[in-house]
Amino acid sequence: QSGDARAEQIPRYVRVNTTMWTLEDAVKYLKAQGFTLGSSPSDKTFAHDAHIPNLLLFSPQTPFHADAAYQSGKLILQDKASCFPAYVLSPPAFDNAVVIDATAAPGNKTTHLCALMRNKGKLYAFERDRKRFGTLTMMLKKAGCKNAEALNADFLATDPTDLKFVEVTHILLDPSCSGSGIVNRLDYLLETEDELDPGAQDDRLAKLASFQLMMIKHAMKFPKVSRIVYSTCSIHATENEGVVSAALSSDEAKAGSFGLAPRESVLPKWERRGMPEHIAEGASSLIRCSPGEDATNGFFVSCFVRRPSNKRKGE
Ligand code: SAM
Repeated sequence: QSGDARAEQIPRYVRVNTTMWTLEDAVKYLKAQGFTLGSSPSDKTFAHDAHIPNLLLFSPQTPFHADAAYQSGKLILQDKASCFPAYVLSPPAFDNAVVIDATAAPGNKTTHLCALMRNKGKLYAFERDRKRFGTLTMMLKKAGCKNAEALNADFLATDPTDLKFVEVTHILLDPSCSGSGIVNRLDYLLETEDELDPGAQDDRLAKLASFQLMMIKHAMKFPKVSRIVYSTCSIHATENEGVVSAALSSDEAKAGSFGLAPRESVLPKWERRGMPEHIAEGASSLIRCSPGEDATNGFFVSCFVRRPSNKRKGE
């Protein structure tokens, strides 16, 4: 099946931006636009998503680009799988909360984090690319994110012991990847992936995996971080289970006592889990989405937590 054919079967996912209004008000608004709320999407009928709160499903080709609520940032077009990372990270929503989105542009997941934090505390959003940083700042403004501070900086160059970051407890890592899971590019502003011959492809995946691993290891150095979500829109085990495996056996994971969060706290009702043939332990803690089979783009989510029983040095 071609990417286009698979894309046509993916519902139009619309996330209600609860930073700006409530789900109830959004449903009222949509009904006033002629839509009906039902149990599954078709024609002018929309439905609630079974896994992600405040996510609505419409039939695949439903146009939203001219819609007033979309244009004002109250509705965000975001694939279901791309809503998993912020939801799994489950950031705190109190005044002293400090959270990092390490690879933020264009900002879909940052605005989701902001909504989950109820616009409270501090959300540092890193983006190293200057142009994409511009897109990020526009999106944060449009979505009413007042707790977010966008930083045009390289996450790998930040000092985890910098006073600004010592209180960080939650980090979202959604770094550059091959993008091999994307079947519906319309909602995305991803870096493009050129057609590569197989040898060059292996090379590229190995380079991406080593960069992705560096990002996780760096995140593990933040002194108070207790939860790190690592996600990709790739279907390749090299970038997914392979990277998680290497991160789990790294010195940084050992020093910080990091392991995988148990399945119960990582979307337990989602059936498709990690591939056990590519990771020694913990495949059931990992989430996979298969394009064509799950009505989403291809996606991968993992969540590292600090094991509480092992106290850190100096505590
Ligand atoms: N999370 C975003 C969203 O949902 O809208 C998509 C992120 S995209 C897959 C990865 C982004 O990370 C790119 O914009 C890339 O420029 C940025 N990036 C890559 N390496 C980085 C680094 N070391 N520090 C900060 N940003 C980085």
